[in-house]
Amino acid sequence: MNKIIRKTEELSQWRASLKSDINFIPTMGNLHDGHQKLISISKSSTCNINLVSIFVNPLQFDSKEDLKSYPRSIDKDIEIAFCNGADAIFIPNVIDIFPPNNKSISYLKASKELSSALCGLKRVGHFDGVCTVVYRLLKLVQPKNLYLGEKDWQQILIIKNLIEEKNLKINIVSVPTQRDSDGVPFSSRNKLLSKNERNILKIFSKELSHAKNIFKKDKKIDLKQLTKKLESKNISVEYLEHLNPYSLKKVQAKDNLSILAGAIKCGQTRLIDHVFLMKRNPIIAIDGPAGSGKSTITKLIAKELNLLYLDTGAMYRAISWLFMKEKIDYAKESELNKILRDISIIFKSNSCSQQDVFINHFCVTEEIRSQEISSIVSKVSSIKKVREFLVNEQRKIGKSGGLVAEGRDIGTTVFPDAEIKIFLTASIDERAKRRKSELELRGNEEIDFNQLRELIRKRDFEDSTREISPLKKANNAIELITDGYTINEVVEKIINIYNLNIPKEIQLE
Ligand code: C5P
Repeated sequence: MNKIIRKTEELSQWRASLKSDINFIPTMGNLHDGHQKLISISKSSTCNINLVSIFVNPLQFDSKEDLKSYPRSIDKDIEIAFCNGADAIFIPNVIDIFPPNNKSISYLKASKELSSALCGLKRVGHFDGVCTVVYRLLKLVQPKNLYLGEKDWQQILIIKNLIEEKNLKINIVSVPTQRDSDGVPFSSRNKLLSKNERNILKIFSKELSHAKNIFKKDKKIDLKQLTKKLESKNISVEYLEHLNPYSLKKVQAKDNLSILAGAIKCGQTRLIDHVFLMKRNPIIAIDGPAGSGKSTITKLIAKELNLLYLDTGAMYRAISWLFMKEKIDYAKESELNKILRDISIIFKSNSCSQQDVFINHFCVTEEIRSQEISSIVSKVSSIKKVREFLVNEQRKIGKSGGLVAEGRDIGTTVFPDAEIKIFLTASIDERAKRRKSELELRGNEEIDFNQLRELIRKRDFEDSTREISPLKKANNAIELITDGYTINEVVEKIINIYNLNIPKEIQLE
């Protein structure tokens, strides 16, 4: 398409004529490899129209000198944008975006909580300027997806907050910080650095990366010591903070994920960099009643996000199977203690890339799905000793994270600190319908719908009224009611929630 648009009226006309959605990549020009990545990822991930904007927003500069010295290279930018997959480029000037006397322009304030930390400390009003221009552009462009680089993590949080507050239906896609071969993050301002200043920035980025490696072992950061170390290397530190990456408040001992972010001055140029720190890899907890589609959906998510898949229901089913086979009288504590002492449950991938379940070396994958097991599993799973034993096993499996676990008490009891918690549910009729077709696929043709519905209702009741860890939505879980949605739509929803909450930089590790 290769279209260049300069006027807002022209943009509105062009927008109205489009049949497809827009992926929008707003920039301040002087395009580097970081921008190229945003444009090319946007191009390759959907069939939408790719629109890049180039606008040096005067509202977000602290001083006239800074605005004047901001590097500009418009002809080269146009070439780079088109070469990397832009379909159109919007290059307005200040008067187009902020026409004087235009009363319909809203001058916005950024979220106070998010903009008073890090860069907001010294750059008063900077994020208000970002919000004002981004909102103006979003209203004009009306994109479906907005592509932003994680290099400016605080900016992403503030724009995400703006989109929520203004109730805009725009999806943010974040792209990990792109770095040069010396570890320095690409930035338009790097052009302003002398050789020596560039070297200082390189040392700063290296020290952050080093701190990250130390954190992997020690699980803590000594900010004072690190600041001292940087200063001893002639680095002028404006700030260095270790924060919760979502609230930008001081990190708490319970936080698994955190951000170590800093700004330094190299001559007249102010530069930022950060690393994300993690005590363990992310965990997704998916809870919900029988037949809500948890297994199918969880398996697909595990595959898509390259996470371990943990089916905790299969563990309760396997124990029920063993109790039945060994005719265990689980009301007798001594019998229960004895059998639990020697139980081993393991999951192994089979040749069809599915998981097999073994209990004490018996492969029980198929047998634990029988009606017989379904009708006793809720009883078995309400036994305190059984739950203690399995929760402990499940925590061992999830110790270093990197997994998606499904069950009834994952978000409430097993992994209460999971980064993403989903409560998946559907009407009882829908769930009975799904279970019926699942059983029919396995060759059970004589299943009565009403009988199945009754069995599910009974299991829901037992699971949600039992004394220990009953089935319930965790406080901070997102509820998804899946009636009328396809499996793929639900998977996509959960993956979007994951992408929105877990920085891509972490997902790539
Ligand atoms: O998910 P699935 O239907 O395989 O689970 C079987 C049963 O195992 C549930 O009905 C419930 O009684 C029990 N369960 C549990 N806690 C979990 C997972 C399953 O109590 N985390």
